[in-house]
Amino acid sequence: KIYARGLARSRSTFGQKLNRLFANFRSVNDEFFDDLEDTLIESDVGVDMAVKISDALRKEVKLKNVKKRSEVQDVIIQKMIELYDEDGKNEDNQIHYAKQGPTVFLFVGVNGAGKTTTIGKMAYMYHQQGKKVLLAAADTFRAGAIQQLDEWAKNDHVDIVKRPEHSDPSSVVYDAVHKAKRENYDILFVDTAGRLQNKVNLMNQLSKMNKVLTRVIPDAPHEVMLVVDGTTGQNALNQAKLFNQVAKITGIVLTKLDGTAKGGIVLAIRHELHIPVKFIGFGEHVHDLTPFNASDFVNGLFE
Ligand code: GDP
Repeated sequence: KIYARGLARSRSTFGQKLNRLFANFRSVNDEFFDDLEDTLIESDVGVDMAVKISDALRKEVKLKNVKKRSEVQDVIIQKMIELYDEDGKNEDNQIHYAKQGPTVFLFVGVNGAGKTTTIGKMAYMYHQQGKKVLLAAADTFRAGAIQQLDEWAKNDHVDIVKRPEHSDPSSVVYDAVHKAKRENYDILFVDTAGRLQNKVNLMNQLSKMNKVLTRVIPDAPHEVMLVVDGTTGQNALNQAKLFNQVAKITGIVLTKLDGTAKGGIVLAIRHELHIPVKFIGFGEHVHDLTPFNASDFVNGLFE
């Protein structure tokens, strides 16, 4: 797997914290439980999940006389995975592709979250898989967004539809969706401006884009991806809650996990919002993105 290297890097900061806890491990006493809860909360897995994990460990310690370091780690790993997928809907981790014709991804998120960068990375990934990829520069609001996406398109060797800054985003979507259908593209990525300050505006803009899309491709968009900055910790969670009120989010991309010890937010988002994290980003380069798998992620924390 070409992304394995990067995945190891993204886990390291959250993992380092947990490994530090276990480096001082002597026995499962009250002090250990306190330290465990503190570490989990500092890593942003959320208070609810931190307490559930530590309670579950207490139970196992009593019931099965767990005391070795490796056994304790195994219980924590198992509980993290269980709690992540508490409602047992892990299968919606998958990307929903169109049955036929272009699959449309709509990207939403506040400025600076990493939307444009994520589209650039994903476009590369699909292009490498032999897919015909089209980008729509419908973030016509943020200065430089169109040019930035244009550079990704050039580097990725994929096509782009754009209009001048401040054009109506829906007109860009109109051009793009017609081109995608007419010219048999496999994937259409739509970049949007994320002005959460004005919820009504954002909602109107998204619903207008949706109308334009569905007129050409009735079941589009197939994925509405919310991009959130992982370094903002619990704030990422609040953003996700707000965006989920204005659009039906089908997946989350959590970015910048290379720059944070708060990687536990990956688990908290799914646990609290029941929206799957589908990709994680861990750097500015094209390879710094990987599909998210909770079991791989959690197991990797202790490597
Ligand atoms: P947008 O406004 O949502 O489109 O955000 P951008 O894609 O322009 O990203 C904002 C900044 O974050 C840029 O400088 C990106 O290079 C940077 N960035 C995006 N994703 C990551 C990531 O996973 N790790 C790091 N370290 N930087 C990132």
